[in-house]
Amino acid sequence: DPLVDTAFVRRWLSLATSAIERKSGWLTELDSAIGDADHGTNMQRGFAAASAAVEKEPSNTPGEVLTHVGRQLISSVGGAAGPLYGTLLRRAGKALGDQPTATPEELCVALRSGVDAVAQLGRSERGDKTMLDSLYPAVEAMGFALGSGAGLLAALAAARTAADEGAAATVPLLARKGRASYLGERSIGHQDPGATSAALLIAAFAEAAE
Ligand code: ADP
Ligand code: MG
Ligand code: MG
Repeated sequence: DPLVDTAFVRRWLSLATSAIERKSGWLTELDSAIGDADHGTNMQRGFAAASAAVEKEPSNTPGEVLTHVGRQLISSVGGAAGPLYGTLLRRAGKALGDQPTATPEELCVALRSGVDAVAQLGRSERGDKTMLDSLYPAVEAMGFALGSGAGLLAALAAARTAADEGAAATVPLLARKGRASYLGERSIGHQDPGATSAALLIAAFAEAAE
């Protein structure tokens, strides 16, 4: 298993940026069904800006990279998802502090506190048909796997599966937060774009560990 070091987080950023770019059309399509058809372009703009910024001004610790990406997302994404993802990553980065490497458990705790910060900022919870519906299952699955003796690679693979399942499970839900909530019952039957992009970001963590 690789270390959770600066190179690992930079690998994650690069994989996340290309996944978002590849799936941008799909994310926008999902957002056109229950939102305003901009989630893919919002995320693509944000991750391109974050990648360029980290490239230009290299960060020295895993926590610093995550914080840097979070700041860039807040300033460049726009829409609901920018501040929410920005908060997630800034909080996770802050939780990692300035240590050069983190243990898998420390990464899990940091991500968990980032997800809690999203819920707090969004005044949202699991079941509201948002990004939290893939993020919470992911951090829980990761924590469970690590607690059962798994290493980083296996724990992130479990997180990835849980996030994908969580995103798919938003289809029958009624949206209670964000733009999709304006649709009421008509939000039922569509997969949430934010839960989908969150699953891509978790998958990028799993790939960064491979
Ligand atoms: P906007 O709705 O402003 O156009 P995006 O389309 O980029 O922003 O992002 C929409 C996604 O943001 C939703 O699919 C949902 O997952 C997420 N979201 C919106 N509001 C909240 C909230 N209060 N808490 C958590 N996630 C939210
Ligand atoms: Mg939108
Ligand atoms: Mg919008």
